[in-house]
Amino acid sequence: MRTIFLGAPGTGKGTQASVLAEKYNIPQISTGDILRQAVSEGTELGKQAKSIMESGGLVSDDIIIALIKERLARPDCASGYILDGFPRTVPQAQSLDDILQDSAPIDGVVYFDVPEEIIITRLTSRRVCSKCGYIYNLITDPPSEDGKCRICGGEIMQRDDDKEETVRNRLKVYKEKTAPLKDYYLEQQKLYVVDGTRNVDQVRADIDKIFQKFSKA
Ligand code: AMP
Repeated sequence: MRTIFLGAPGTGKGTQASVLAEKYNIPQISTGDILRQAVSEGTELGKQAKSIMESGGLVSDDIIIALIKERLARPDCASGYILDGFPRTVPQAQSLDDILQDSAPIDGVVYFDVPEEIIITRLTSRRVCSKCGYIYNLITDPPSEDGKCRICGGEIMQRDDDKEETVRNRLKVYKEKTAPLKDYYLEQQKLYVVDGTRNVDQVRADIDKIFQKFSKA
């Protein structure tokens, strides 16, 4: 099960990837999470990525491709993975095809379809537990009344890049750089569209059906 979750920020890719990665016992590979960890640890990668991420821009293709190449070579990727937030540009997608040339190709790409105004509302109301990473939404899935995480009691925070101005920039960057990937994978006949406006369980059921098709192919 080698799959890519494609879609604008805030379309639910991360939420679905974490649930389905656990269910299918494969790693969720989120380049955003890897970069955020590097920033919090203050590594060389983190120093290079920090200001770019804060402005909602994209980290350079070279850095991201090297990072993904190393990650996909690890043994836990042998029976599959969910790529969440990668590729984000056509050169990244082409490099991924090159990297996988000597092993197994991607089975399919799940595209999360959500209108822009819904995305803006979702992202600006998104909150994250600073301790366990659980993703809340102030409207649909709020944290407990004392503002703490329901799971671990950790502090709830808003990602800097979920503030409205940055969200608008991230969507602009998405349209320019990432949206063309839809055609890229359509041409490869690998694109599967899900309606990301449905609730979390419905979307998960739709993706489950798509995964069944991959395993039969
Ligand atoms: P995400 O959590 O996927 O929304 O990613 C957060 C931020 O990390 C993005 O706004 C980018 O600045 C950076 N980032 C994550 N993945 C990539 C990627 N594949 N290419 C370039 N930048 C990325």
